[in-house]
Amino acid sequence: MTRRLENICLLGICCRKLRLEYTNRNEEFYIHLTILEKVYPRKVSLKGCQKLYEVLKPVLDELKQHLHHMDTIGEMLYEIQNVLEQQIRVRGPNQPIEGHAEYKYFFEQLHECGWDKVHFISPNFQEVHLKAVDNSDREHILKIWISDKFPNEGPKYECELPQEFHYRWLPGDTLLNMFTVFQETLTMHAEFWNIMDELDKNTWILEPEAPSRKDCKRRIALASGVSLLLVINPLMPTSVPTCHYLGPERIVEPMRTKFNKNIHMWSEFESVLTNLQQILEIEFPSPSTSVKEEFCMECGICYSYLLGEAIPEMTCDNPDCNQPFHHACLYEYIRMLPDVRSSFNKLFGQCPYCSQPLWCTIL
Ligand SMILES: [Zn+2]
Ligand SMILES: [Zn+2]
Repeated sequence: MTRRLENICLLGICCRKLRLEYTNRNEEFYIHLTILEKVYPRKVSLKGCQKLYEVLKPVLDELKQHLHHMDTIGEMLYEIQNVLEQQIRVRGPNQPIEGHAEYKYFFEQLHECGWDKVHFISPNFQEVHLKAVDNSDREHILKIWISDKFPNEGPKYECELPQEFHYRWLPGDTLLNMFTVFQETLTMHAEFWNIMDELDKNTWILEPEAPSRKDCKRRIALASGVSLLLVINPLMPTSVPTCHYLGPERIVEPMRTKFNKNIHMWSEFESVLTNLQQILEIEFPSPSTSVKEEFCMECGICYSYLLGEAIPEMTCDNPDCNQPFHHACLYEYIRMLPDVRSSFNKLFGQCPYCSQPLWCTIL
């Protein structure tokens, strides 16, 4: 018997097509091994095609026990191959094996894409993640789900791009075609990600907490209690982004004015970060020179940043305090003060931190 292997081996996962040639017959099996824990004895899950199950059925429990005491995926595969050969011999050359290689086409398609691109395959061979690396060495994953009607019906897919990824699956189409279009789309967005990466590396990003490759928004710390919410256009990433300034009005109002006055200085040949710093005439706080806690913007009453969808948009006007609050939290707080006063649609009270007079509109 001779053996041929096509495979993917990842840390803890091994997915292979195992082909045994036996008395002029080709037998193909699809194997998916997962090592569940890195402890000894190992917990190993062995899945595969119907045909694999059919041949191994009489010895499956015994085989699994053996696998649990092996160290490497290589040893496990060797054991599975031996047992498979043994079982085929026992069945004799004339006894056909029930079950067909329904994964054959799928495996051929992955082979065409290149096994080095395969990042993950699920044990039922219906979900696969393909990995592409763009020309700035960023890794991007295209998740694909295959239905029983594949390839007549196109797969479902998901990926993290700043714009939705649409792929029209045509009759006779292949995963390689789809993956190639995905890679071309990555090249198209390279400049957008360069800009985002520069912001992420050189400024304090308050939001989102862990930016993904599809996020076009960044809230950047400018000073204690002051931040800038940027929305970058992924189609024209070097053009002027949408800017919202958050913080005490007496601080953000001059920034807005300066931005509008200097906007003519915006150059599409410079990065967004360089442009913003030049136009606002400030240097943004950077992780190399400051700590994030200095720019904390949590509400001083509920101690969280997001309250539903709301951010802490009210701020104490005392320059030494600058404490931010959610409108709803501040309203509840002032409303409960024993000496609260109201006039028209406003409530008057004191800041819970510095006792300076403070007001908010009635909700
Ligand atoms: Zn709050
Ligand atoms: Zn205060």
